[in-house]
Amino acid sequence: MTDTILTASSIITMDDAHPRAEAIAFDSDTGLITVVGTVAQCREHAPGVAVTDLGGTVLMPGFIEAHSHPVLAGLLTQDPVHWIAPSNGYPTFADVAGLWHTIDKETSPGTPVVFYGLDRPTQGVAAPTAPSLDDHFPGRSAVVLDNSGHAVYFNSKVIDELGWPDGKPPADPPGARFGRNPDGTSNGIAYETAAILAVAVPTLQRVIANPLASAAAFVRLMAANGITATSDMAYADTLLPAYEALLSRPDAPIRISVYRSMTGPNAHDPVATSLSTALLQQQGVKMWADGSPFLGTLAASFPYASSAVVQQAGIPIGPGGVANMNWTRQQIDPILDHFAPTGLQVVTHINGDEALDIMLDAYEHALAVHHLLGTNHRWRIDHCGAARADQLQRAHSLGVVLSSAIYQVIYWGDLLDGQLFATDIGSQWAATGDAVRAGMRISFHNDGPLSPPIPLANVECAVTRRSVTGHVHGPQQIIDLEKALRGHTIDAAYGLRREKEIGSLAVGKYADLVELSTDPYEADPTKLVEQVAVHGTWLAGRRIDLDQFVQQVTGLDPASHPVDHGDVIATHSC
Ligand SMILES: [Zn+2]
Repeated sequence: MTDTILTASSIITMDDAHPRAEAIAFDSDTGLITVVGTVAQCREHAPGVAVTDLGGTVLMPGFIEAHSHPVLAGLLTQDPVHWIAPSNGYPTFADVAGLWHTIDKETSPGTPVVFYGLDRPTQGVAAPTAPSLDDHFPGRSAVVLDNSGHAVYFNSKVIDELGWPDGKPPADPPGARFGRNPDGTSNGIAYETAAILAVAVPTLQRVIANPLASAAAFVRLMAANGITATSDMAYADTLLPAYEALLSRPDAPIRISVYRSMTGPNAHDPVATSLSTALLQQQGVKMWADGSPFLGTLAASFPYASSAVVQQAGIPIGPGGVANMNWTRQQIDPILDHFAPTGLQVVTHINGDEALDIMLDAYEHALAVHHLLGTNHRWRIDHCGAARADQLQRAHSLGVVLSSAIYQVIYWGDLLDGQLFATDIGSQWAATGDAVRAGMRISFHNDGPLSPPIPLANVECAVTRRSVTGHVHGPQQIIDLEKALRGHTIDAAYGLRREKEIGSLAVGKYADLVELSTDPYEADPTKLVEQVAVHGTWLAGRRIDLDQFVQQVTGLDPASHPVDHGDVIATHSC
């Protein structure tokens, strides 16, 4: 039964049929919207229910982030780990070194410290080694995780604690390796997941006493930025106790759609949980086609620029081409063949244009064989920094949808445009204008832990193409504010195949709301983040108290919701 009527200075519905409303009514038991319209219509529907006037607040549908890794992001970016990425306020290595100095001075002697987010190309620093980290942290163990997820740096105290005989690492695990000095001792670097886990997990276990609290802190950060739904794009069942603990709290602020790795075990098995599908929904499966533009591992037809940045990062000029594919077409076809009939949504991590060609070929083949062309399958291509207009047109014609890594333009735009790549490539990175011109409904993401989850920052970039320094990259890729807001509301819901439940304010959908200080349509587009503050969110008709949420999580016995540091870090493939 309708028990709540809200009115605000304006209500932006993101529903094409009725873009603005004066009031909204909902049933807080079911969490569903019952009226969107005028105050009089709400009163007529629910006589006797008081009208709550939110005053100058502007209401919108809660923001949706189409691609994230909330539990992983919590462990890596939230206290007690220190987040040293450029996107979190450390643009140069001098800024990082300054923090290191402060932390070493202010942390009690002997206490280990962990940092995440060292971004060598952007911050302009060579790979730290054990001796260089010893200079910063002479008396304590220090672990520094690379922003990419592909390397960890550590000091001599960590090597001692690992107990490697004579300081020599064991044999390299499959697909990973330990950095070694000429005499076979560790140089303080390890590469790829298995080696990173071996090095970092013992220190992480000592530093992060309550991983669940870290996860809650990241979910809190998302909600504080207006997000009410997201996904875990590298979900594994080892994360389920954490999600169950987080999402079953009374003030849980978020819904999660989960995607297991297509190439991992049991990807199509149902997720066995007592949570409602409204809160935790298994939507699809994920694969990783190629690597990262910041590591030289994207499958691209174009070379890197011969710049100082590229040289210092040790990136081969390339082009990297198909050699950077994680899978061959011969391997991809049977994988898609297996999942196409399951109805699960197929999502692929793609950065390079060659990777996109190969995946579109493979998608088209599988969709045709399984008679899915022309249906509402919505197989996704995610990130796609180097996608060209003709590729996006082709994707749209196949019914494929894009989630764009616009955040790369915000935080790495100056690097991509002219330093990593020639301007004709780098300025067009994350070609949202081309995607919209192709007719696509696009969504955005921050891919936590890769950048802070701030939807309005993505929207601001989409309508201005300005990086954090204010430089404009590829103005022909600007899209209008309506399309940009859709990328974090109704079109993000579409990308998660949840537009019948969330993404706009309409009768029968969940009353997931964000309260804004200012109407984004009336703000200066170049200052959206500054001028439009998030004052709160609602999930299923409940106004969320984020302090309560964190208390509800930290009040739990961690042993009843075990979160294994290693299991979480093992999912670090963004
Ligand atoms: Zn990701």
